[in-house]
Amino acid sequence: MKTQIPFDNSFAALKGGFFTSQAPEVAPEPSLLAYNDALGTELGIEKGDARDLSAIFSGADVPSGAEPLAQLYAGHQFGSYNPQLGDGRAILLGEVIDTKGNRRDIQLKGSGRTPYSRGGDGKAWLGPILREYVVSEAMHALGIPTTRALAAVATGEQVYRETALPGAVLTRIAASHIRVGTFQIFAARGQIEQLQTLFEYTRTRHYPVADGVEGFLQAVMEAQCKLIPAWMGVGFIHGVMNTDNCQIAGETIDYGPCAFMDGFATDRVFSSIDRGARYSYGNQPDIVIWNMAQLATALVPLMPNADAAVTRFTEMLHGMKDKLRAEWLLVFAAKIGIAAPREGDGPLIADLLDMMETSGADFTNTFHALTQGSAKDQVIDQSAYQAWHDKWQTRLATENDPTAVMARANPAIIPRNHRIEQMIEAAVQGDFAPFHRLTAALATPFDVAEQDEDLTRPPSEQEIVPATFCGT
Ligand code: AMP
Ligand code: MG
Repeated sequence: MKTQIPFDNSFAALKGGFFTSQAPEVAPEPSLLAYNDALGTELGIEKGDARDLSAIFSGADVPSGAEPLAQLYAGHQFGSYNPQLGDGRAILLGEVIDTKGNRRDIQLKGSGRTPYSRGGDGKAWLGPILREYVVSEAMHALGIPTTRALAAVATGEQVYRETALPGAVLTRIAASHIRVGTFQIFAARGQIEQLQTLFEYTRTRHYPVADGVEGFLQAVMEAQCKLIPAWMGVGFIHGVMNTDNCQIAGETIDYGPCAFMDGFATDRVFSSIDRGARYSYGNQPDIVIWNMAQLATALVPLMPNADAAVTRFTEMLHGMKDKLRAEWLLVFAAKIGIAAPREGDGPLIADLLDMMETSGADFTNTFHALTQGSAKDQVIDQSAYQAWHDKWQTRLATENDPTAVMARANPAIIPRNHRIEQMIEAAVQGDFAPFHRLTAALATPFDVAEQDEDLTRPPSEQEIVPATFCGT
């Protein structure tokens, strides 16, 4: 049977230069590495055999109903505006309406050059494709809004980075691929008609109840104010929060140099190119405000009175700090068993985090130990821990079921960097068992099977991954 995808495309119908039609390149020898059956069903896809799936999800065979295109966008990269980026190695096949009634994008990543490829080859190698598959699916299982991974296909072609590496394509599913940078490009070019069209399209698609431009901006800000504290609650560092990687619908997007922390440190950075530590763990809330300021700036031309708009948007941006703080408090209060935080809970959390930071305590395992009753083995200063523990227990006496709250907030297993690196090394050698094992274990991150206990362990000295590299 041939794979049937019930395409229902809307972006492809937009007039005004938002994209260039572009067919994917034909992979010489595609072979299916993974297909996400549950997600495929949710998208209403009737799947064919492995051969058909690998042809479609490598780009070799464009399925009927697809209208392949590369999207245009710009963006601030590490604070500097790049006036034209765009899908340089990604192709949107089209959209479907999923079984819950939500419109979702189906995009190939690594399927060859587009008009926006600049000097790049438009391809991807196996490492970043498997990394994104594992980490984005883990994020979803952790309950954090994210793009998803539908399929990974090896192309049978060599991709040249520092050495020759096996090529691969990821099929990414997203609420949409519209970014802050998609708005920026039309605002920067003074193309107000296009900006208006894009705004109407995006508001209708993602925030249909939002009232006008201001309501839309507010809704995007709120989504981001939920997302970033959720990342912080699992020790996630995105690593490249450029405005082109900041999605309007509020999903985590772009798993290039991201990483989950092992030992807790507020200023932790993994990305090898983030030399100024702009996108460190603790900077993420400030950066998202900065990114929303860029969106606000791009929306000003749509307002009847620019001065009044700037005043109002500035107020809204100032309000983000408190919203982010309140969301952060909710997330971290749950991690110590408190369902509804009140006065004094902030300092209680801060004291624990200080202790963890001084000890370099493992972020995930410390909170998981609290769920089990005590994290004394995770920190160095035992008398300081005991004092904190007593205060914590006194506070929990007025909570209903703190253990249940913690069990939902503190995963036992996260995608640790050294495990991802080991998985990629094995896959390059043709051994996909670690990839399948990680994917399966991370599907239920709050419960870990006995045989997967080793995946919860922090890296040994030799296993530590000090830096991550962009996913090209
Ligand atoms: P990213 O670092 O993934 O956010 O990508 C930034 C920009 O570089 C986007 O416009 C990408 O499409 C483009 N890009 C990244 N890798 C490649 C590649 N291998 N070939 C062409 N363009 C690329
Ligand atoms: Mg990107």
